[in-house]
Amino acid sequence: MTTPQPCARCGNEIPAERLQALPETQVCVACSRAMGGEFTVYVTPERISKEGSLKKNYGGYTTRKVRKPIKPAGGE
Ligand SMILES: [Zn+2]
Repeated sequence: MTTPQPCARCGNEIPAERLQALPETQVCVACSRAMGGEFTVYVTPERISKEGSLKKNYGGYTTRKVRKPIKPAGGE
């Protein structure tokens, strides 16, 4: 069971379906859109192949998610 949580930005309840799909979310769908996404995702290719090698390794990517600062809606 997912417990509904209030949005960290506007205080509205985050729907349980959203929390199930994204358990780490702290904002509702509307706020996530308004912020342009709750997270900034950095994708870094891992350099496994040797420098100058013609063979490329397509397997390795590191993704790093960084939560954006959440500003309360209408606070400014
Ligand atoms: Zn919200």
